[in-house]
Amino acid sequence: MDLEQLFSQYKEQSIEGRYITLDTIYPILEKLNSNKQLEIIGKSVLENPIYKYQFGTGKIKILLWSQMHGNESTTTKALIDFLNHLNGGSELSKKLLQTFTFCAIPILNPDGAKLYTRENANQVDLNRDSKDLSQPESKILRAVFENFQPDFCFNLHDQRTIFGVGNTGKPATISFLAPAYNEEREINATRIKAINLIASINDVLQNYIPGQVGRFDDAFNINCIGDTFQFLGVPTVLFEAGHFYHDYKREETRKYVFMSLVSSFIKLSENDIVYNKLDEYLSIPQNKVVFYDFLYKNIRINYDGIEIITNFAAQYKEELINNQISFNAYIVHISDLDDYFGHYEFDAKGAFYQDDVDNFPKLNQKANFYLDNIKFVNGLIF
Ligand SMILES: [Zn+2]
Repeated sequence: MDLEQLFSQYKEQSIEGRYITLDTIYPILEKLNSNKQLEIIGKSVLENPIYKYQFGTGKIKILLWSQMHGNESTTTKALIDFLNHLNGGSELSKKLLQTFTFCAIPILNPDGAKLYTRENANQVDLNRDSKDLSQPESKILRAVFENFQPDFCFNLHDQRTIFGVGNTGKPATISFLAPAYNEEREINATRIKAINLIASINDVLQNYIPGQVGRFDDAFNINCIGDTFQFLGVPTVLFEAGHFYHDYKREETRKYVFMSLVSSFIKLSENDIVYNKLDEYLSIPQNKVVFYDFLYKNIRINYDGIEIITNFAAQYKEELINNQISFNAYIVHISDLDDYFGHYEFDAKGAFYQDDVDNFPKLNQKANFYLDNIKFVNGLIF
C-alpha cells in the first residue's frame, strides 16, 4: 500500500493551515453527503451545530472525534482526507466500508474552533469534563457513544511544539496513548487492544518518520474522555498530532495522521492486533518537554555592568488576528537551558545582545533584537 500516493490522491485541497472551523469544513461535508451520511447531533454552547458523519455497513464500529480542543485542527484535516478516501470508490475503501461502520465527529467543539481556543465557549476543557458532563458538547459525545456502541474509539488531538521523543532531540511528530482505565494503570482485555493497535501504527510510521513517534504518559484521570471510555470497556486510542521540521501549518503532520488512520483500519481488518504487542508499545519512547521553537546560545549580555554569557529561548504564541493565525515569537526563558533543543537554533558565539530598550533579554517581550549586527525579527534573522 503506497500511503504517500493515497494521501496525495485524497487530500482535501480546499483546506490548509491551522485555522479550521465549521465554516471551513461544512461545504466539504455537504459535498460528501450524497447518501445522507451527515446529521446534526446537537448544538454547542453558542448554538453552533455539531455534526456526525456515519458511513459503512460493517460489523466493527469505529467512533472518531476531532477538535474537542478548538485550536487542535490537524486531525480534523486528516479526518476529512480520510472521509474523501472512503468516498473515493477504491477497492480499499470498499473493503473498509464493508468491514467497518465509521461514525466521525469532525469538530466536537465548534465554538472553540471559531475562537481558536482549547476550551469551549464556557471556558471549560471538554477533556476534563467526562465525569461531570457539564457541557452540551460533552453530553453530545456521550450520547453518541451510548447509542452507537463503538468497538473502538479514536480521540484525535494536537500537541504543542514543546514535545520531543525522549531525549533524542527529535520532535514528537505524532504521539499516541492507550489511556489507563484505573489508578494502577493495569492492562486488561480492553486496553491491550488499544496498545496493540498503537504498536501496529508505529510499525508503519517508522518507515516514514523514524524516531519521531512518541508515547504519552498514562497517569489515570477519569475526567479525561479517553480514560473514561477505556474504563467503560471500549478500546480507545489517543492521537496527538505534533511538530514536523518547519511545519507550523501542520500539513506534513496531517499526512502522517491520515496514514495512521488508514493503517489502523487495514490492521484491524486483517485482525493483526490479536497478538500481544505490549513490549513493542513500551519501546516507543515517552514524550518529554524538551523543545522550544527558538533557542539562542552563547549570547553576551551586559547586566549592571557585568558581562555574562547565557542562552535564551523564545516560543511562538498562536494569535487569532483578522481570521488568521499569526505566529508571534516571545522570549520565554533565559538560563543555561542545557537539556533543551530548539526547532530553530542559533549559536551567537559570544555576540552582544541588544534590543530597542535594553542590552539584556526580558521575559514575555517580543523576540525582536540584535546579536551584534545581526537583526532578528519575530525570532528569525531579518
Ligand atoms: Zn487536545
